[in-house]
Amino acid sequence: MSSRADRLTARLEELGVDRLIVSDLVNIRYLTGFTGSSAVVVLGGEQRLFITDSRYVTQAREQVEASFERCPPVPDLLSGLAEAMDGAGALRVGFEEAHLTVRGHRRLAERLGERVTLVAVEAAVEPLRRVKDGEEISRIRAAAALADDALAGVLAEGLAGRTERDVALALEVAMRQRGAQRPSFDTIVASGPHGALPHASPRDVPIEKGQLVTIDWGAELDGYCSDCTRTVGVGAVDDHAREIHALVLAAERAGLAALAAGRTCAEVDATAREVILAAGHGEHFGHGLGHGVGLDVHEAPRLSGRSEEILGAGDVVTVEPGVYLPDRLGVRIEDLVLVGETGTEVLSSHPADLQSVE
Ligand code: ZN
Ligand code: ZN
Repeated sequence: MSSRADRLTARLEELGVDRLIVSDLVNIRYLTGFTGSSAVVVLGGEQRLFITDSRYVTQAREQVEASFERCPPVPDLLSGLAEAMDGAGALRVGFEEAHLTVRGHRRLAERLGERVTLVAVEAAVEPLRRVKDGEEISRIRAAAALADDALAGVLAEGLAGRTERDVALALEVAMRQRGAQRPSFDTIVASGPHGALPHASPRDVPIEKGQLVTIDWGAELDGYCSDCTRTVGVGAVDDHAREIHALVLAAERAGLAALAAGRTCAEVDATAREVILAAGHGEHFGHGLGHGVGLDVHEAPRLSGRSEEILGAGDVVTVEPGVYLPDRLGVRIEDLVLVGETGTEVLSSHPADLQSVE
């Protein structure tokens, strides 16, 4: 099997460049295994260079995949890049347009001089990252299992009377105690009317009986993320809250059922959205249906009405419809799903139907 760097090098012609500079650290981790905070990679021609500064020499020796040549440490990465291109003739050199700053681009152009044409590349590594291999899938599966276990532990302590911030903190501690490096994003705990904010920050406000609470949380384990959302009732909730929960669950199930290799992201989004539209709540579901998850918690593909990208085996995506009623309540239900050749596997295991937690 060819390495990730082999597969990327094979794409350079299609990208229209002789060399590619990879500066995004997550992409560098994916290609080389390096987890430090300062590095750059150059691929193309006969080159496969890994450049870092003196702080990371030992770590690079331990982590960086053997097919990369580890350059002597440089005082700054720009000089390392200039040295790497030295001596070559005229070159078209690609850079990751989503990651290089305007200032970085200006300095790079100055250092590389006129014989180098810098070419903006939209997504070089990201399409490779979309297709998860077996090891990546087991890491994501383990992160999801850890996060689910942490939530079960926190819910067993009850919700009523605790503040949103307390619950969020307890959940983050529970994930760390179970081996997570960190939460994969800031945990959301949103009760009552606050649940109507899709990206609510936990407040110092006690959670009351009779409210819905939306909890959106994930763990990062060995670099890989999980992402899941559950909306639970604190004790008994009224019929209206039950109805909205049932609606979102129906939409979520429709989305899960529609998810398959060969479908476009827009089709899957539309299938789930249709359920919410038919119930008259279309305007209360403003965001896309989901997103890819891997080394980043939000990565390709986007499941939205505008995305004609085709789902394929190895995609790990979320399905997360929501209904947000301003000043009243909100419900979101999110599962993490692996797309396979012939079917899908839901990696989240915590029950999604309306649970009552005292
Ligand atoms: Zn989430
Ligand atoms: Zn998500």
